[in-house]
Amino acid sequence: MEGIGAKRWNFGTSNELLVRSSSLGIRDYLTTLNSCLNGDDSRPVVPLGHGDPSPFPSFCTDQAAVEAICDAVRSTKFNNYSSASGVPVARKAVAEYLSRDLSYEISANDVHLTAGCFQAIEILITALATPGANILLPRPTYPIYDSRASLSHLEVRYFDLVPEIGWDVDLDAVEALADDKTVALVLINPCNPCGNVFSRQHLQKIAETAYKLGIIVVADEVYDHFTFGDDKPFVSMAEFAEIVPVIVLGAISKRWFVPGWRLGWMVTLDPHSILKDYGFVQSLTNVLNVSTDPATFIQGAIPDIIGNTKEEFFSSKLEMVRKCAEICYEEITKIPCITCPCKPEGSMFTMVKLNLSLLEDISDDLDFCTKLAKEESVIILPGRAVGLMNWLRLTFAVELELLVDGFSRLKNFAQRHSKKQP
Ligand SMILES: *Cc1c(COP(=O)(O)O)cnc(C)c1O
Repeated sequence: MEGIGAKRWNFGTSNELLVRSSSLGIRDYLTTLNSCLNGDDSRPVVPLGHGDPSPFPSFCTDQAAVEAICDAVRSTKFNNYSSASGVPVARKAVAEYLSRDLSYEISANDVHLTAGCFQAIEILITALATPGANILLPRPTYPIYDSRASLSHLEVRYFDLVPEIGWDVDLDAVEALADDKTVALVLINPCNPCGNVFSRQHLQKIAETAYKLGIIVVADEVYDHFTFGDDKPFVSMAEFAEIVPVIVLGAISKRWFVPGWRLGWMVTLDPHSILKDYGFVQSLTNVLNVSTDPATFIQGAIPDIIGNTKEEFFSSKLEMVRKCAEICYEEITKIPCITCPCKPEGSMFTMVKLNLSLLEDISDDLDFCTKLAKEESVIILPGRAVGLMNWLRLTFAVELELLVDGFSRLKNFAQRHSKKQP
């Protein structure tokens, strides 16, 4: 018998998988940047690279949500396997929660519960990925869509969000990109990574464009209600389901500051029965049937999490985030080498443009972030991770003192590396 090392193994497909998923995700960049930190720096690390404020005392979840989980566990009513789309009481609670903002009622049958919004994306992309199909994604983007699409052989095409017009969608580009194999357009509102909120008028235009092209709209609304701009309330794409089939994705992760609880949803809004008649609802059901479900006791807690969290919790947290966003925007204006084209009005992020010509020994966005991590223990995501070279994505949802400290270090760093005037 030949030796085990000399034997040929049939891993051809996994090599292909490696090639297909070789583009780096946010986690890859953050791991690299964290490995650059200087262990001798006694200052705390300022994590402005990823949006998870839940470890900070100011962003602790509501006690009512914690009680809801404890009660669900103690009741012993939620120890069973879940059904594929979720526990009925939880689906109903999510349907009612989302209907509060709409001019019509969402049916519990259209709500499918998932392990966070992330799994909703996974399931949706898997169902959309028919041979030869393509999907339209915004740039800058939330890169999970791209990575999941490439794993499923779903071709990705990018349309631009345009900073000069408040990060609105370049609708002409959307029309130019789409063909008869285009299945969907993804829109993230409030927007990660840009921090903008789309207006009702713009959402309607997007829906009309999608209708014209015969493609559905995937509305990632994981930051629903996370808006603090003066005149930009959150409007759900669900309002335009009469125009075009809409699939809304969401979760309790961001609004309740509990991303680790892994409870999200995918809602099919299809008043003209297009998704159903074209067999897409069946495709989704097929994928749901072979996917794992969120833990049943988390689902069981949902009616109380939604029902018992007081409005005061949301308004005080939002006020906190608004304050952080203000400070972030103000501090950016004091640093010459970065500019923020649009004041953030939603989500937990903003994009800033790097002006390399003002810097002496920084070659690009990754170099900037790497040196910043090394010298100042501040983590910022290089723009290339979300599809824009030589930009940076910052989150401002961290403890206020830490944010202020982070910006003072960023200022020192920028000064130290700025080109000296002749
Ligand atoms: C955080 C986030 C997700 C993932 O949400 P989870 O509920 O944590 O899985 C999806 N889309 C966007 C735009 C996000 O920012």
